[in-house]
Amino acid sequence: MNRNIETFIGCDSGYEESGIILFGAPFDSTTSFRPGARFGSAAIRHESFGIETYSPYQDKDLMDRKVFDCGDLELCFGSAESALFDIENQTRMILDDGKLPLMIGGEHLVTLGAVRAVAAKYPDLQIIHFDAHADLRDDYLGVKLSHACVLRRCHDIIGDGKIHQFCIRSGDREEFVFAREHTDMHKFNFDGLGEVCEELAKNNTPVYFTIDLDCIDPSLFCGTGTPEAGGVNFNELLSAILTVSKTNIVGADINELAPMLDNSGASTAVACKVLRELILSINK
Ligand code: MN
Ligand code: MN
Repeated sequence: MNRNIETFIGCDSGYEESGIILFGAPFDSTTSFRPGARFGSAAIRHESFGIETYSPYQDKDLMDRKVFDCGDLELCFGSAESALFDIENQTRMILDDGKLPLMIGGEHLVTLGAVRAVAAKYPDLQIIHFDAHADLRDDYLGVKLSHACVLRRCHDIIGDGKIHQFCIRSGDREEFVFAREHTDMHKFNFDGLGEVCEELAKNNTPVYFTIDLDCIDPSLFCGTGTPEAGGVNFNELLSAILTVSKTNIVGADINELAPMLDNSGASTAVACKVLRELILSINK
């Protein structure tokens, strides 16, 4: 008999043999509007059994890959700094073993913990960021550690011109002014992604890839804390993921699924499929 443990579908290889390590960061304490993302990673694992391990898009199967899913971190909901510390440690351990950390949020702030560890290992790190929101506020109601500030905090670490943002359609005026000088922002869709990825791939630049699932239109993905009309569809996102996969991805995450906000379960099913395609696209 086997122990009763639930992994993402097809991701039940052992740690030693695996190149990709999945882990959940169930944290949503700084969510600015509707909370619930802390339940995202567990829902994605559970509902993943509703999709296939095989991808007809890539002609690849999770059953042929070595992926270890170590479950969710036990994070302190009352302290963002404590949660980020734990995420950073987890990410560092995975990197130290020469493996690729793939985190399932959680709200978007969790990305900062992973980026702290990845940037320490790769000083020339660049970030590819898909999101409806710029996430470039210097503070949100006086708080610097918020999901509305996460890419600004990443900018504090890696500096100008190294954050490539796509699908952005929401933020305050200051964020867009900041982006003009400090990040490479592409509004509304994935225009320009091919050129950016070609350049990054040419130089073998290490890339952290963060997907805030609210980049998807809320008509397809309403199970999220801050839905924003005017998003991309699944096929556009899939094609963009395959483009990014040509770069040297050294860490990645998907975040901001709040499963209870979509009682139909469709948003969770979308997130599962995004994760399957992301895993299969990464060459590790
Ligand atoms: Mn975000
Ligand atoms: Mn967002």
